[in-house]
Amino acid sequence: RILDLKDPSLLVSQAYVAGEWVDADGGKTIAVTDPFDGALIAHVPDLGADAARRAIDKAHEVQKGWAKRTAKERSQILRRWYDLIVAHADDLALILTTEQGKPLAEAKAEVISNAAYIEWFAEEAKRIDGDVIPGANPSQRIVVLKQPVGVCAAITPWNFPNGMITRKVGPALAAGCTMVLKPAAQTPLSALALAVLAERAGIPKGAFSVITTDDAKPIGEEFCHNPKVAKITFTGSTNVGRWLMREAGDSIKRLSLELGGNAPFIVFDDADLDAAVEGAMLSKFRNAGQTCVCANRIYVQESVAPAFAEKLAAKARNLKLGRGTDAGVTMGPLIDARAVAKMEDHVADALAKGGRLLVGGKRSELGGTFFEPTVMTGITQEMKVTKEETFAPLAPIITFRDEADVIAMANDSEYGLASYFYARDMARVWRVAEALESGMVGVNTPALANEMAPFGGVKQSGLGREGSKYGIEGFLEIKYICLAGM
Ligand code: ADP
Repeated sequence: RILDLKDPSLLVSQAYVAGEWVDADGGKTIAVTDPFDGALIAHVPDLGADAARRAIDKAHEVQKGWAKRTAKERSQILRRWYDLIVAHADDLALILTTEQGKPLAEAKAEVISNAAYIEWFAEEAKRIDGDVIPGANPSQRIVVLKQPVGVCAAITPWNFPNGMITRKVGPALAAGCTMVLKPAAQTPLSALALAVLAERAGIPKGAFSVITTDDAKPIGEEFCHNPKVAKITFTGSTNVGRWLMREAGDSIKRLSLELGGNAPFIVFDDADLDAAVEGAMLSKFRNAGQTCVCANRIYVQESVAPAFAEKLAAKARNLKLGRGTDAGVTMGPLIDARAVAKMEDHVADALAKGGRLLVGGKRSELGGTFFEPTVMTGITQEMKVTKEETFAPLAPIITFRDEADVIAMANDSEYGLASYFYARDMARVWRVAEALESGMVGVNTPALANEMAPFGGVKQSGLGREGSKYGIEGFLEIKYICLAGM
């Protein structure tokens, strides 16, 4: 597949290890393909743990120097990286869509809105303030410094191949840390394009490496056991997060985990129903339902449920499936056959237990990994669609009687990333927002993520926050200095 890029140098087939562009030892490569039709886009190196080790060694070697630069210098370099990403957003979006499948407009929005994390943390770099606290006795002062944790390792998923990287690397570099990244094997090209621009922006050689691999485990083990790695930041499935936490426990590494979700999306009878339908469409079908904050379970109060279901089904029917780069396309294919199988399994399970299809329910005529946007009613808490993260374009509607009823159902999950609800009564808004067990709550909106807000989960959805003034804390240690003898 030939991509029509304005800057063809952004499409690279080498990895970026310790400041050098490298091929794999022995020429082992990964074929990167377009999920639209399986066409080959490029080959990238399939690297092993030794490459990760080299990158970590170099990241360790340059970290102190990077941290010693003034905050303003680090900030200016990051700002340049941000400017370059924005300037090349069209090319980055095209690379993203081609390797991941999402519509081009969504890809561009991902690039721009997540580059904003680099912009934000470039600014925050200058505000890593300490503290002076009165001493325990008159001859002492307590001084608090914040220092970078050191070398960080990042592991990112395929659903936001660009944005999941900038929101991790931005704060890490701003804090004075260095970073070794392992992107998802399905979508390494976005990561490598970002590395090209990072190098161009003047990020020092070795401060940011990208290890491409088809065999994640040995790299994960290297990250978890290498004593030079201080922190691991991961976005992906809860199972892999659990494994990383266990492995990294040996050396008490710092961890940020952004894991799975099972977001409830609740519509109360006092809601603006059209706004709720609009929100559910975005929350459920953006990226073909492949986001960790996607509405997974849609709870609608009895009296408005039939109207809501009908409106949602009508809109879902209007989604236009196709190649992400084609004009007017609003939903791309699923990432792979495994994703399709999970969707089919959830639909079949719901049907077997009494669920009904309003629209969709089967693979699309487009073939490949396309699945029809699906809306189901008659859903209960006992079905897989409500218990597990579907990660696909399936909107299951569950009706509820009252507030207590729906809060109990919404909180009946080991996950706690995002939740959403639509209501207008102000007292109810406060009560429900406080009662939902999740790190983020969208009230009358499906759009939660932006660089100014703390993104993250509770329960088994993860640890730590990305974005906002809180997002840099995970890359900093607190040092207390006791100044005595005054
Ligand atoms: P998904 O189902 O979305 O692929 P994963 O959690 O499996 O979710 O993948 C997210 C990221 O974690 C990817 O970059 C993947 O390669 C990586 N990954 C998966 N298993 C491991 C592992 N054992 N060690 C390190 N990284 C892993």
